[in-house]
Amino acid sequence: MCGIVGYIGKQKASAIILEGLKRLEYRGYDSAGVATLTGSRFDLAKKIGRVAGLIKSTSAQKMPGTTGIGHTRWATHGGVTDANAHPHISSDQKIALIHNGVIENYASIKKFLLTKGYTFQSETDTEVLGNLIAYHYQKEPATSEGSRFVESVRKTLRHVEGTYGIAVMCGDCPAEIVAARKGSPLILGVGDGEYMLASDVSAIISRTQNVVYLKDGEIVHITAKSFSISTLDSEDVSPVIDKVTWRIEDAELGTHAHFMEKEIFEQPAALENSMRGRFSEDGSTAQFGGLNISAVDFRQIDRFHFLACGSAWHACLVAEHLIERFARVPVEVDYASEFRYRNTPLSKNALFFTLSQSGETIDTLAAMREAKRKGYKVLAVNNVVGSSIAREADGGVYQHVGPEIGVASTKAFTSQLLLGAMLALYVGRMRDMSFNDGVDYVHALKGAPDLVRKTLELAPQLKGIAKRYAHYHDFLFLGRLSLFPVALEGALKLKEISYIHAEGYPAAEMKHGPIALISEQCPSVFLVPSGEMFNKVVSSMQEIKARKGKIIAIATEKCDLPAGLADEVILIPECHEAVLPIVATVPVQLLSYYIAVELNRDVDKPRNLAKSVTVE
Ligand code: GLU
Repeated sequence: MCGIVGYIGKQKASAIILEGLKRLEYRGYDSAGVATLTGSRFDLAKKIGRVAGLIKSTSAQKMPGTTGIGHTRWATHGGVTDANAHPHISSDQKIALIHNGVIENYASIKKFLLTKGYTFQSETDTEVLGNLIAYHYQKEPATSEGSRFVESVRKTLRHVEGTYGIAVMCGDCPAEIVAARKGSPLILGVGDGEYMLASDVSAIISRTQNVVYLKDGEIVHITAKSFSISTLDSEDVSPVIDKVTWRIEDAELGTHAHFMEKEIFEQPAALENSMRGRFSEDGSTAQFGGLNISAVDFRQIDRFHFLACGSAWHACLVAEHLIERFARVPVEVDYASEFRYRNTPLSKNALFFTLSQSGETIDTLAAMREAKRKGYKVLAVNNVVGSSIAREADGGVYQHVGPEIGVASTKAFTSQLLLGAMLALYVGRMRDMSFNDGVDYVHALKGAPDLVRKTLELAPQLKGIAKRYAHYHDFLFLGRLSLFPVALEGALKLKEISYIHAEGYPAAEMKHGPIALISEQCPSVFLVPSGEMFNKVVSSMQEIKARKGKIIAIATEKCDLPAGLADEVILIPECHEAVLPIVATVPVQLLSYYIAVELNRDVDKPRNLAKSVTVE
């Protein structure tokens, strides 16, 4: 959600931090701030609104410090005001701090600190952290200032309940930052004569590709020359420096108007990257390197549970359809946020999968921990390497689609659809799917990038339709079987970036309620496959037409739609059942995108939304 950037080096920290904050804008936030340290003086600027506003307001201000911290806030406690924005400075002016997450026991800590004479300038939960660190700091025995500083952070965190990623500066330690995490991502960038901190690699890849992914419960103490990591229990940790494979261009807009557009058009390449090296040599099945479960054990699984949120949940529904259809193994799909409290009965040989692009979705992480507590293995599908979910899972599959910056998921979603289809193949081939059917299936999946490329050529047609339909206030998206989740995804995309009310429904279910919405003012987007479902879907279309509803049909090429039934017809390539949801997703993405552009919406940063949802 919100973002953290920190810098220690030889350059002017504020400039580097503001650039980092700009790169984190996509995560969604409502205010931003930066503080640097010069001698023992904190220079502070914070402001509601975009980072551009903060940059403007800091340009006149002198912030010469070469040590600094910056933050983009997504308010949880206290309104969106300049005073509530981070960094927060302790009332004795000793400590400056930024925080992602929620401090659940802030009220009791605040009460205590008030009795000790500390005062508060904001309504946030965060401010107690700075004051509590200051409190411990002045009580800590005067060893070296640096270790006094780390120990005061450590003591504070032992008292804290909730989640945090924090970066802290101390007025007595001009070139030092102490940072720590629990339930909120934090990465240390090891540069050339400089160190950076960030909640997300995209903030630092322009300066270094060498990173240390901090783990929950770890504290890093950074000075101008070195860094050391320890735990809350004061145990030393030897750091592992990883290399980020993303390039800076991956996180830049290039010639595109929005990241969402860029990422929609990147999908053929993203799909190729997701499947690369993941088919068996004989071309009849899928193979995954990191499942950490032998084929023999995998064969024993009698039920799969999928846990996810948002678009990833839709991808799970498609995986459910394909696994049950091709592998004949029962599948349950749960919202991660519901599963963790539902206490559902589970079979003995169940296996869990979690899907999360960022690997930081807190509900999914918590649901995964619950499944593990119950003694089940959990495999994770994530895009971000080294993310919390990826690290805690028993094994899993990386998506390899590069950074997804647009808040509305596109390339990560279709890659999840692909990996779900590959899993159905893998499990299917262990059971009843024949060698020849496996070869056909693999052949179809390998053809998916080209079919998506071809479907992207429909962009001008969808742009024209978007112009004609952008003024409607309600939409229905309707599809059946594996295209029902695509209908859900289409409705979600439209809501997210256009703020237009839309609902996704199974096409035939529409007559049990949503049909009451139908009038000339509520268009329906139908996903129409040729084959056995064709006539059924056409009947549903007739029912809408009879009530004067406008129809946009996204149909496969062989569909022989009755003349005049649909007001708009978008023809997509015929394809294998495992590939169809991927190809059918492209037009609904483009439709939502062009409608949002037509309405002048902030496509990459839609209101109220955050890219990776790290609060409950
Ligand atoms: N809970 C803190 C606040 O409301 C931090 C929110 C965030 O993660 O940005 O200020």
